[in-house]
Amino acid sequence: MKNLTPFPIVKKGKGALIYLNDGRILIDSISSWWSVIHGYNHPELNAEIKKQTNKIAHVMLGGLTHEPAIKLAEKLIQITPKSLNHVFFSDSGSVAVEVSLKMAVQYWVNLGLPEKNKFLSLKNGYHGDTFKAMEISDDSDFVKAFDRVLSKNLFLSPPNESFNQKNIDAEIEILEDTLSKNHHEIAAFILEPIVQCAGGFKIYSPLYLKAVKKLCNQYNVLLIFDEVATGFGRTGKLFAMQHAKVSPDILILGKALTAGYLGHAATIASSKIYNSFLGNGYEKAFMHGPTFMGNPLACAIALKSIEIFEKNNYLIKIKKIEKIIKKEFSPINSIIVKEKRILGAIGAIELIDKKFLIGFQEFALNKSIWIRPIGSVIYIMPPYIIKKQQLIKIIEVIKLWISITDSKLKKSNKKLT
Ligand SMILES: *Cc1c(COP(=O)(O)O)cnc(C)c1O
Repeated sequence: MKNLTPFPIVKKGKGALIYLNDGRILIDSISSWWSVIHGYNHPELNAEIKKQTNKIAHVMLGGLTHEPAIKLAEKLIQITPKSLNHVFFSDSGSVAVEVSLKMAVQYWVNLGLPEKNKFLSLKNGYHGDTFKAMEISDDSDFVKAFDRVLSKNLFLSPPNESFNQKNIDAEIEILEDTLSKNHHEIAAFILEPIVQCAGGFKIYSPLYLKAVKKLCNQYNVLLIFDEVATGFGRTGKLFAMQHAKVSPDILILGKALTAGYLGHAATIASSKIYNSFLGNGYEKAFMHGPTFMGNPLACAIALKSIEIFEKNNYLIKIKKIEKIIKKEFSPINSIIVKEKRILGAIGAIELIDKKFLIGFQEFALNKSIWIRPIGSVIYIMPPYIIKKQQLIKIIEVIKLWISITDSKLKKSNKKLT
């Protein structure tokens, strides 16, 4: 806070554009933290939220239920893998992650194996900012202050070459070794399938996810997929796990679920998990009740968002976005670029040092682009309705920054020699 300049004040949004009070108009390259997939101020979503508001804006989901919650649960069960049949609503991705972890621990308690209470997760993973989510996340800037409060989690490195990497034997060997030594105390393996987003947009091979599935089965460890960021088309499939054709015991959805209109999330479990919580009293029951779980406005918006996604063939739109990013990224070639990573509507450029991004956000803002790099990674995750020319403009500004920085560096290197 000490070093911040005042933020631009937003007046309104429309499509992929953010309008500021001072008259400037920005192209949003990151969908407001990856949630606003249909763009801002969407007429159908606006109409839906008004319609639902005129019926009921909120009612508790304890002891009562309502049509938007029932219909959304049914829809989520329909579009997710066959084995996932039970939905628990909460108000944010982090809470939905907590819910999944609590479910995993209590599943083993209910089965009489309380010693299975630890978690396995991935280096570079990010699962939210609440306490247990921090424990299983690998992000030192976010968790450093809480080192003494957090207990130690087991982290594994996913293969890190590319989506197409074939030889992942070393990573599988470590995974198998870890599971064979520790499985009797591990409740679950939680991971972001295929793309680790906040941890720097690292993309790993679906073969690894297949191996994780197989070995978790073999060693009796539950599998949790956190698709809060990757869900709803972001990686080119409706869900990232579909690249590997595997399903988890518990799936977490958030962010794009409600198209950026309201905070809501879902934790979806298999019948195997669900059945273990059935009993005659509260002993086995899952005791968690977020006040705004299943909020009718959020559920109505989520349903409408999925309807728009299906009706307008969004997966084709996303393929087109991927093609444009690939084409526009391909000439980028600089000594400051370490790697380019593209999958679906995600494009990331990792630089060799984050110092080469000092001033970049302001540079882009002055050229009407809203973008926020993470560490040494410039990334774009545009709304799926973005126009081709808008997307090209975003990438042009990135290219311009890279070429200016590249020539500055070359000049100063020349001076040195
Ligand atoms: C954003 C994110 C979360 C946390 O969601 P919030 O709604 O911000 O609490 C959890 N997991 C992943 C993979 C995320 O990207």
